[in-house]
Amino acid sequence: MAKLITKEQTARQQSFIMKLKEENMRYAAQNGHSRLALTETYGCQQNENDTERIRGMLKEAGFEFTSDTNAADIVIYNTCAVRENAEQKVFGRLGILKHIKENRRDMIIGVCGCMVQQEHITEKIKRVHEHVDLVFGTHALYKMPELLYKAMHEKKTVVDIEQSDGAIAEDIPMLRDDSNKAWVSVMYGCNNFCSYCIVPYVRGRERSRTPDAVLREVRELAAKGCTEISLLGQNVNSYGKDLDTETDFSDLIRMVNDIDGVERIRFMTSHPKDLSDKLIHTIAECDKVCKQLHLPFQAGSDNILRQMNRKYTKAEYLEKIEKVKKEIPNISLSTDVIVGFPTETNEDFEETLDVLRKVEFDNIFSFIYSRREGTPAAKLDFVLTDDEIHKNFNRLLEVQNEISKRKNDAYVGRVERVLVDGVSKTDENVLSGRCDSSKIVNFKGDKSLIGKYINVKITESHTWSLNGEVMED
Ligand code: SF4
Repeated sequence: MAKLITKEQTARQQSFIMKLKEENMRYAAQNGHSRLALTETYGCQQNENDTERIRGMLKEAGFEFTSDTNAADIVIYNTCAVRENAEQKVFGRLGILKHIKENRRDMIIGVCGCMVQQEHITEKIKRVHEHVDLVFGTHALYKMPELLYKAMHEKKTVVDIEQSDGAIAEDIPMLRDDSNKAWVSVMYGCNNFCSYCIVPYVRGRERSRTPDAVLREVRELAAKGCTEISLLGQNVNSYGKDLDTETDFSDLIRMVNDIDGVERIRFMTSHPKDLSDKLIHTIAECDKVCKQLHLPFQAGSDNILRQMNRKYTKAEYLEKIEKVKKEIPNISLSTDVIVGFPTETNEDFEETLDVLRKVEFDNIFSFIYSRREGTPAAKLDFVLTDDEIHKNFNRLLEVQNEISKRKNDAYVGRVERVLVDGVSKTDENVLSGRCDSSKIVNFKGDKSLIGKYINVKITESHTWSLNGEVMED
């Protein structure tokens, strides 16, 4: 059973929230406006969910928010360690902030999350970016009010990157941007140690929230009118293994399915080795669970899968997919793929393409391998050149784009139930939402439809989205 952050510790953080709030009220009274905070998130949905906690604590402490770096009194970057380019972006941003801070001495700059949970990164920040005031890792997130208070009052960089398998902090205030959809973390950390992945080192071992805590959060969301719940964990199929109860992830889904007000349930991520028949039946049987499955296969060659420590073969993966398709005929499938793992040859890569062709995923999230210091794969030598890896990556996209377009073509003429998210990013006269299978659907409609479920007839397909027309009731 995972350790919980104690009530005393929670109360301590609450007292720092109150201290910050008093200061912020004084500031607002003197200046005629509140102090402004800016948060920026890199990486996965877990990080997005963590940023919602950071913003919740800041809001309760009396900060308002801005997206203008020049106007911000506090900037917090919640960082990702999964790929090198996300780290480079953060370092680039810190370089820009240095100049802004030269004229704004009181500005507080914070960096948190997976990237700074790695000691060599924190050392680099301390050495090269002395203008950073606050550094805290994934395990110290709940202590942000205290750390921020210290950073605002002590004239030195405050650092907390305690190494721990992590305790669970319940009852942290959250500020969510979207009132119709919510991420709900069901577990944290990962025990799988895929050889290329830094996550188990920066997020600690698997620990599940109790079913009571998860269900309480979902009920509260549903009571406020939030209808789409996405259950979140690095490997949701391991949910419950560390709990004293018999509840596993399938049981948890069924409990969420019974909550009034919830209309859609999604979840991610599932590790193929742990995808059980029970979970497949649960997706098929629960009316609110979207018929959509994200099942990362990463590579098609058994040799590469072994070196990645993925603990399944290509044949085993394909067998699971066949089972899923048989039980849930209209399921929409997506996956993650890594191209250019150090020992991958062109022949190995052909096996990856073979999986794409056999499964016919609706869409894929593809990445070129990124070397992560401290992982076993970082010690391996590359077989292919950069150029060859990029050529393979482009071929992968070509093959998948053709499949995705074909999959989307099959939607034309169908009527899809769409939850309207907002105005399209590319055309302000067009609304955008997602259908049950999570495909983006664009259509003309009145802004009053935002937040509602409506029926849309699909009239046109693209590789990444669908166009449609609102159906009259
Ligand atoms: S399952 Fe593998 S890839 Fe996913 S977070 Fe865990 S170690 Fe990383």
